[in-house]
Amino acid sequence: MSLIAAKLIWALGCVAWFIIRYPHQRRARRMPVKESPARTRERILLTISFCGLFVVPLIYVFTDEPRFATYRFQPALALAGAGVFAAALALFYRIHRELGRSWSVTLEIRDQHVLVTDGLYRHVRHPMYTAFWLWALAQLLLLPNWIAGPAGLVGFGTLFFCRVGAEERMMLAAFGEDYRAYMERTKRIIPRIY
Ligand code: SAH
Repeated sequence: MSLIAAKLIWALGCVAWFIIRYPHQRRARRMPVKESPARTRERILLTISFCGLFVVPLIYVFTDEPRFATYRFQPALALAGAGVFAAALALFYRIHRELGRSWSVTLEIRDQHVLVTDGLYRHVRHPMYTAFWLWALAQLLLLPNWIAGPAGLVGFGTLFFCRVGAEERMMLAAFGEDYRAYMERTKRIIPRIY
């Protein structure tokens, strides 16, 4: 694989991501919301994640900047990155279907929010975040640049660690014992590990 191919795979992965998400985003905008805590904080975290997963790598893909941070392209790493991106997209597609109307971009409780504990949610509480971690890992493997590569891990990592505790507290407040019992039998993003 060449560097151009790796950049193209990264870009196609982002487009596929957008296509998978678009219908859910449209539907979500029309759904009545009961609660949406910490709106400003949520917007800031989403912006940081968006810059790390999209803006910084996009600049690198088109301009090769920042050049000082470039290292030698390794086809085997990029190939692994393509595989990880494909896995992330497959996961992302499936989770959107499983979470359905309970999905939202920012933290929200819907008017008729359904707690999902089946499918992939049987194994981990935050499979969509697992998919985002995989996307960030794919970016690291595909782009040979010490800033553009890890930017996704840093950007999404900031969102994840600042949000996941608040999300669980919000779900506990909304679903009480049901969510507490669900937390006891599941991990966050990696089955049986974390
Ligand atoms: N953290 C989850 C969902 C991300 S989408 C994941 O990684 O898969 C964020 C929204 O999903 C939150 O606003 C919350 O209301 C909702 N949510 C999170 N876990 C849920 C669950 N188990 N069932 C239903 N809705 C959930």
